[in-house]
Amino acid sequence: MARPGNKIIQAKLVLLGDMGTGKTSLVLRFVKGQFFDHQEPTIGAAFFTQILSLTEATVKFDIWDTAGQERYHSLAPMYYRGAAAAVIVYDISSMDTFVRAKRWVQELQRQGNPNMVMAFVANKLDLDSKREVQNEDGEQFAQENGMFFMETSAKTAQNINELFYEIAKRLARAH
Ligand code: GDP
Ligand code: MG
Repeated sequence: MARPGNKIIQAKLVLLGDMGTGKTSLVLRFVKGQFFDHQEPTIGAAFFTQILSLTEATVKFDIWDTAGQERYHSLAPMYYRGAAAAVIVYDISSMDTFVRAKRWVQELQRQGNPNMVMAFVANKLDLDSKREVQNEDGEQFAQENGMFFMETSAKTAQNINELFYEIAKRLARAH
């Protein structure tokens, strides 16, 4: 809960990335601490809220997950409208999803708010033995496009809280 004198930031956060990269799983891990091996890909146009308290601010996330529309490789402008933060996700075990993540970034740059906090996320870090995308390649693309980079696993929970804390910190700094 908010501390006295602490500012409150309400921030819409959207997720982008190909189907199957783990967007819904990342959100469920962060919001509910759960993971499902057979995550249903098209359950609802899900909306979640989560609060993170930092020393400098309390961030209330309104998280919009897709309902599978990413299948068509674009999302409605309404999805991005007013978003303060975006998480672009690929799967380290699939080069295709990395190539397409770069296109998702371009779509976001066309449609989104230019001051958005952007996180470029390499998910399924637990599948390192099947890795097709090197850490450095993700890091470099993120840097070139003004995003921060993180490798995560929704399955093991590695770096999930770190990801959302980093976004919250950057939002607090921008306010
Ligand atoms: P979305 O289509 O981007 O929302 O992806 P989902 O969250 O539905 O996940 C697609 C599949 O990948 C599901 O079978 C998940 O269980 C699996 N998955 C998601 N995150 C991870 C992860 O970090 N590691 C592994 N091994 N599987 C994951
Ligand atoms: Mg999903």
